Amino acid sequence: MHESCGVFGVYSPNEDVARLTFFGLFALQHRGQESAGIATADGRRIQIRTGMGRVSNVFSEDQLRHLTGYIAIGHNRYSTAGSSRAANAQPIIVGNGNNAIAIAHNGNIINAEYLYKELVEQGYTFSTGTDTEVIANLILACPETNLVDKIKYAMRRLQGAYSVVLITSRNLFAFRDSFGVRPLCLGSLDGGWLVASETCALDHIGAEAIREVEPGEIIAIDENGVTSSSVEGGRRGLCIFEYIYFARPDSVINGRLLYPLRQAMGAGLAQEHGVDADLVMGVPDSATAAGMGYAQESGIPIAEGLIKNRYVGRTFIEPDQRIRDLGVKLKFNPLPQMLDGKRLVVVDDSIVRGTTTPSVVKILRKAGAKEVHMRICAPPIRYPCFFGVDMATRRELIAAQKSIPEICDFIDADTLGYLSIEGLIKAVDLPKNIFCLACFTGDYPIPVQLEMDKLALEAIATRQGPFCEGIDGA
Ligand code: SF4
Repeated sequence: MHESCGVFGVYSPNEDVARLTFFGLFALQHRGQESAGIATADGRRIQIRTGMGRVSNVFSEDQLRHLTGYIAIGHNRYSTAGSSRAANAQPIIVGNGNNAIAIAHNGNIINAEYLYKELVEQGYTFSTGTDTEVIANLILACPETNLVDKIKYAMRRLQGAYSVVLITSRNLFAFRDSFGVRPLCLGSLDGGWLVASETCALDHIGAEAIREVEPGEIIAIDENGVTSSSVEGGRRGLCIFEYIYFARPDSVINGRLLYPLRQAMGAGLAQEHGVDADLVMGVPDSATAAGMGYAQESGIPIAEGLIKNRYVGRTFIEPDQRIRDLGVKLKFNPLPQMLDGKRLVVVDDSIVRGTTTPSVVKILRKAGAKEVHMRICAPPIRYPCFFGVDMATRRELIAAQKSIPEICDFIDADTLGYLSIEGLIKAVDLPKNIFCLACFTGDYPIPVQLEMDKLALEAIATRQGPFCEGIDGA
């Protein structure tokens, strides 16, 4: 399963904005490692540098020094398979002269193909395969003169998930879809203003997190400070996987620090699926906190049984199955002295295709574990994602194809327990109706007409349609 992109923005006449953005992106590296980019503006022009790889591979000291100005945006990209190319790195610049904007986006526009065709018919040209360029051209296509009005026009026509940062030569804008699928927050630093996908990016640079950018909100920042406006919203749909897995555990979303919430997920698993065992371990790093919660609730000692090689990257990042399989071995090294003869409770964040978990169980058994009891923070994933998480097609989702006992057999665990949806909501301690839970329930928080759109449904179900290959999410 992969998530899609981290965004960062800063408006501060007193700071080296390119360097701040570099460190902001560094803190958001977990959200995308395929390409990175920074655009800066100095009141007259926009400069940009993008490249393939992690942020530290893309930017040298010299390159950062040449990105001058007092406004910057940055982006870490993860994309759908097959679209890994430099032309799709973000930010991108669209428009010319005084109309030029640089834009970067986290999310997935469901009606991008439709809007793309409409814009092409109007004479707009495209140089990337991203839905980010669709957003940008839609904004520029609006006849209004005020940029906030143009953004509102685009937001009313865009269907899907988007947390966007945008600059002109003089201003910074940030806006978020009315479902609020992907996080976006506002911060301040020494009189300047920042926006970021997660608060951890603000913490690392000494900035103060002020608040969320609300679903449907448009933030505009200039020399007079921050102004806010919004478009009308409907149902909310914050992706619950931000809490389970995507966001860093030291980030705060909706006023909740994620680390203790993940501990609560582990405690919930201990309540729902207790078992006699000698040791608890969380699969590092994403389930470390949940493992701790399971141990505290159950009274079973916790230990590290797998050491993670942090420099290999997340296994789901790899584009094909063969490399994904290799990735698990490259990623974890077991500690046989800790595991030999032990009955283990192993807490993990999720099972998607069911390709990684059997390898983890195999590694643990080979290292001497007597029993392996898998406990999973996410309920069974039975439906694909409409909002840009490239988890799998329905056919590939193991919980859509097998019962829980069959999955237990398949992964070769002694027992398998998933946290219930009620247990998950109790752990995150927020109202259920603000979340998207569609990959567990099939209840998508999108307009009915889109659910009825057979083409979109087929495209998402098969990953072969124009919504998935022609226009990439970000
Ligand atoms: S379907 Fe699942 S992965 Fe996709 S946005 Fe909703 S909760 Fe997140």
